[in-house]
Amino acid sequence: MATTQRRKSYTCNVGAVRVGGDAPVVVQSMTNTDTADVPGTIKQVAALARAGSELVRVTVNNEAAAAAVPHIVDGLEKQGVRVPIIGDFHYNGHLLLKKFPACACALAKYRINPGNVSVGRKDDDNFRIMIEVAVQNDKPVRIGVNWGSLDQALLTRMMDENSRLDEPKDARDVTMEAMVVSALNSAAKAEQYGLRRDQIILSAKVSGVQDLIDVYRSLAARCQYPLHLGLTEAGMGMKGIVASTAALGVLLQEGIGDTIRVSLTPAPGGDRTEEVLVAQQVLQSLGIRSFTPQVTACPGCGRTTSTFFQEMAEQIQSYLRQQMPVWKQRYPGVEELKVAVMGCVVNGPGESKHSHIGISLPGTFEEPKAPVFVDGRLMTTLRGDKIVAEFISILNNYVESHYAAREEAELTS
Ligand code: SF4
Repeated sequence: MATTQRRKSYTCNVGAVRVGGDAPVVVQSMTNTDTADVPGTIKQVAALARAGSELVRVTVNNEAAAAAVPHIVDGLEKQGVRVPIIGDFHYNGHLLLKKFPACACALAKYRINPGNVSVGRKDDDNFRIMIEVAVQNDKPVRIGVNWGSLDQALLTRMMDENSRLDEPKDARDVTMEAMVVSALNSAAKAEQYGLRRDQIILSAKVSGVQDLIDVYRSLAARCQYPLHLGLTEAGMGMKGIVASTAALGVLLQEGIGDTIRVSLTPAPGGDRTEEVLVAQQVLQSLGIRSFTPQVTACPGCGRTTSTFFQEMAEQIQSYLRQQMPVWKQRYPGVEELKVAVMGCVVNGPGESKHSHIGISLPGTFEEPKAPVFVDGRLMTTLRGDKIVAEFISILNNYVESHYAAREEAELTS
């Protein structure tokens, strides 16, 4: 596991999930269903939770959505899905939380965007009302600043002040500072209105990697609230994954970040759970948390003229993921397992020996045999067209014998 020193922060309880303090970095996600569609939202929340999302946020943008929230929480409970649900509020949260007390009660946390909660007002009554509802319901709040909806009055004031300086700062730097100031000022006000400091989580999301790193370094140095980390509007596919990983990787390595979300834009009809898997993989690649056994596979080269080993690596990774819902209950620690699927003799045996179980497949012109290494030693050599099935059988035996099986009674109790 990583030796990174986590930044010190308060511990915030979001339902049964602890965020900050010495709690593990929490993976969270957000639905993209219409929240008023109760069955559809339940289905997606359950899928996100089963994929490993430890908190799930839903938008609460109108009365129908607010009315649906308690039914969503009930429906999930009936399915045995106990993931805390967070309500995402913009513009009208103060109205919805007051008018729908069952929604305010069912949610495990409220997200408030200080940039749009009091649009067009000189006072902060709307913000205060939301905080008072949180206090009455004993709920934590995330004060979530986003540069796409940054408090324009604050930004204008800070820009004006900056322009009067002898040496004005760059507009970008002022904007980043305004993000931090917006978050910290709102947190101070929330405390003033009665929220405990261990009921506040902060975020200040931007869509540029360097901007995000700068903003969070500044925020982390100036408060002890737990931080929700994520690149906003990360984008689609590879761009979104790489940009999120680059930004989160730097900050997490510095011990900054208590809960993360990877905001990927799914392809039309794409799988929403991808953002959960990416977030888990970021944490696991950094050695911060383990979620699923890892498959090391070489990239292949001119020594591998068939796609067999790529297919095998994919089959093994899929197999491991499919097993994890049961394995993680039955075999504690199995998420640390390392498996290697290698394409030829050059690095195959060496890499395989560094893994718990590894197979070195034959490259082009090599003898058609595949040595299997277990805990660094040659265990057997596979041949023929049943290599995948035989390797999986070895894998199953290894898991069975190396990770203490919990008693069936314990599992069903
Ligand atoms: S292990 Fe062999 S097949 Fe894989 S990249 Fe290295 S040389 Fe190529």
